Amino acid sequence: MIIQNKIEEKILREAGKRLALVLDEVETLVRPGVTSAELNLHATQRIKEMGDTPSFLGYTPAGSRAPYPAGLCVSINDEVVHGIPNGRALKDGDIVGLDIGLIHQGMFVDMARTLPVGKVDEKSLELIFATKKSLDAGIAAAKSGGYVGDIGAAIEAVAKQGKLGIVRELGGHGVGSAVHEEPYIANFGKTGTGEKLVNGMVLALEPMLTLGSPDVVLGKDGYTFRTRDGSLSAHFEHTIIVGKDGGEVVTKN
Ligand code: MG
Repeated sequence: MIIQNKIEEKILREAGKRLALVLDEVETLVRPGVTSAELNLHATQRIKEMGDTPSFLGYTPAGSRAPYPAGLCVSINDEVVHGIPNGRALKDGDIVGLDIGLIHQGMFVDMARTLPVGKVDEKSLELIFATKKSLDAGIAAAKSGGYVGDIGAAIEAVAKQGKLGIVRELGGHGVGSAVHEEPYIANFGKTGTGEKLVNGMVLALEPMLTLGSPDVVLGKDGYTFRTRDGSLSAHFEHTIIVGKDGGEVVTKN
């Protein structure tokens, strides 16, 4: 969506703040032994307690046969995105991607981060750090008057610097009035190409980087994407509002 007035802007900011608060809480629960189902339960309950709606729960993306069964996606190690919470416990040395969305007064926001579980190796930390950095670069490039390709190019530059794989089948998207909206935002690209960015455009930017091959496979559950070569993957996401100096992050507490 494109923000039209101060009222919409205020609701969107409040939605983002609430989502970040919930994810911060879930983050404190991440430790060896906790199951992805427990993380999902907390996330979903907290969103409902605040009077909001978990936007992923019951959502059926284009091409999927069944609605998504949880409010939180939990993607461990070689799982890239959309891991379905279950009884699997996190282990020391894992990395875990948490992706969450909510609807507050009709406004949809979306965010994700990847966290270390217990003590993780240096390579994993570097992957997490670089993926976060690539998101920051994408946000800085989301300037009104620029182009969607500027965002992809900025993300790609950071990934290349770290010699990391960029997942090419999945990317960012418009958000605000639905879980997924136009435009699609690839995590690679050329500056000055693609749709023009305008003031007030609400976007979810979400780089997914890997330590190995960028190729992914979709699991039998119809949702979980994994790296084809089993290498680790990290994912960070913010909902932003495009402005003249770059994107303004709304999913922050
Ligand atoms: Mg998203």
